[in-house]
Amino acid sequence: MLSEWQIRRDIVDIGKRIYDKDFVAATDGNISARLNDDRLLITARGCCLGQLKPDELILTDFNGNKLSGKGQPTGEVSMHITAYRERQDIYAAIHAHPPITTGFTVAGESLAQCIIPEVVLIFGTIPTTEYATISTDEGAEVIKKLIKNHDALILDRHGTLTVGSDLISAFYKLEKVEYCAKVTLTARQLGRVKTLSENEIEKLEDVRKKYGLKTKLSLCEQCGICKS
Ligand SMILES: [Zn+2]
Repeated sequence: MLSEWQIRRDIVDIGKRIYDKDFVAATDGNISARLNDDRLLITARGCCLGQLKPDELILTDFNGNKLSGKGQPTGEVSMHITAYRERQDIYAAIHAHPPITTGFTVAGESLAQCIIPEVVLIFGTIPTTEYATISTDEGAEVIKKLIKNHDALILDRHGTLTVGSDLISAFYKLEKVEYCAKVTLTARQLGRVKTLSENEIEKLEDVRKKYGLKTKLSLCEQCGICKS
């Protein structure tokens, strides 16, 4: 069990990695970690994820009320809380604006396609939520159902939400979503995107079962095989 201070330091470290990898610009994005059943650490509204300080993070309850820290919790606090309420197995959540992934959703293009084997293995599918007005409770509404079965969501014309059992796993999922967008974009630029065949997906499903992965393989738009 990590101490609260260690979790604070981990949030600072992950924030720097997110900023350095251009997964956010300026003061975009937010990070949270669940400490226990009624306490949450979350980044402040208007802060830059590249320059966080451990003692400036906001401690809130699960209604989003601030208990300590500098400034106010991010305007997306209700989205983070909803993710924890729907998923007792997760302890960290990251909202970021990775540019290629965000470009896909701005163009009205989905990444819920069975193209890259290890992406299908880890995520099943990466669905896109409905549109929500930023910094309102709409963000919580649009993720509520999807987050139950998915560790990575694309927020329509806004960015991503990734969750995990700890901060590093939520970060790796963010990295992986942007990688998926990059590879898909490159393939499209080269002129052809090969989707996985029925047989290839069935074998991946066997591996997913073996690993006990609970994320859902559904909503695939192109191969037509994984539709729920
Ligand atoms: Zn955002």
